[in-house]
Amino acid sequence: MFARWFKNLFQKSPASAPARPLNAAAPRFVPPATPEKPSRAEPPPARQKAPARQEAAAPPVAAGAVVSHPAYGVISIRIQRQDAATACYLVDETLLIDTGCVWARPALRKTLLELGADKTIREVVNTHDHDGAIGNNALLLELARPKVFAHYLAIPEIRFPDEDGAARLGNAPVEAEPLPEKLHTAHCELEVLPLPGHSPGHIGLFEPGQRWLFCADLNAVGAGELELLDADGPRWLASLDKAIALRPACMYDARGAVWSQENEVVARLERERGFLLELRNQILQKAPDAGTLQELTRKVFEQPEWLKRVSCDGWQALLDAPAPVRCKFVRSFLCDMHAPG
Ligand SMILES: [Zn+2]
Repeated sequence: MFARWFKNLFQKSPASAPARPLNAAAPRFVPPATPEKPSRAEPPPARQKAPARQEAAAPPVAAGAVVSHPAYGVISIRIQRQDAATACYLVDETLLIDTGCVWARPALRKTLLELGADKTIREVVNTHDHDGAIGNNALLLELARPKVFAHYLAIPEIRFPDEDGAARLGNAPVEAEPLPEKLHTAHCELEVLPLPGHSPGHIGLFEPGQRWLFCADLNAVGAGELELLDADGPRWLASLDKAIALRPACMYDARGAVWSQENEVVARLERERGFLLELRNQILQKAPDAGTLQELTRKVFEQPEWLKRVSCDGWQALLDAPAPVRCKFVRSFLCDMHAPG
């Protein structure tokens, strides 16, 4: 895909953070010993609500990687460079949600080996087919030989990475299977939640007992503008409605950000929704006076008054995107407006 090739041209080298000493005091997969947190020796009963904690409680354990324990049984691996961040979540030692960007591979390899996850991971879920979700599938196969699951619309890019995109970035072809309706770990039952809009085969995972939502890129913060090339505004709105209706108590996104209170999660999602609703209103208002898609897109995005009424937090990538990306997004609303029924 041209967009991914274009993006690759501007990929910067990973930040060369100095190696840090291992956190030898922290045994594998054992949450830090704090009074409010259950120890590994006394796990909570399956599906019992466990206390949530904010990210970044633990020190980094690998160069460029920060490992934290935002909730019992959940390990966040967040890898950052100067201009980007990527994250994977390990649930109950056996299920890895996303495999991170290709540029994060050395840090991810080191971290997984330090955690001993190469001996425990049995399943990998790719939440969609962008680099941040699939970039290290081959590494996981090499280390742990797990089953890889994805939405069927994401599987073609995983199995046949584009020579101008994912393959050029370093993604090797990987066999993936369509996701089942639910995935089970020792303490979690994760429901597969189709959340299209960011991309056609984009999903989240919802744990109904804990009301955890692994939302991938439903939250637009941090997404690159060229990740929006396959985006569909109306579908994104519907996915936000679906997620808000679940009233998640905790939300984990694809960049390692964690919201650990229901009101924070809902507020975050409502802000995203408010932007898209206002954008749709602007398209409706300005469509009668526009002759071309490009003219309509200019009228919508080059008059910033409406942008002052909504939060653009998270949508800066769209505002900064090349004109063809914004045009395609506007077009998705036009298609929906003319849909039958
Ligand atoms: Zn994405």
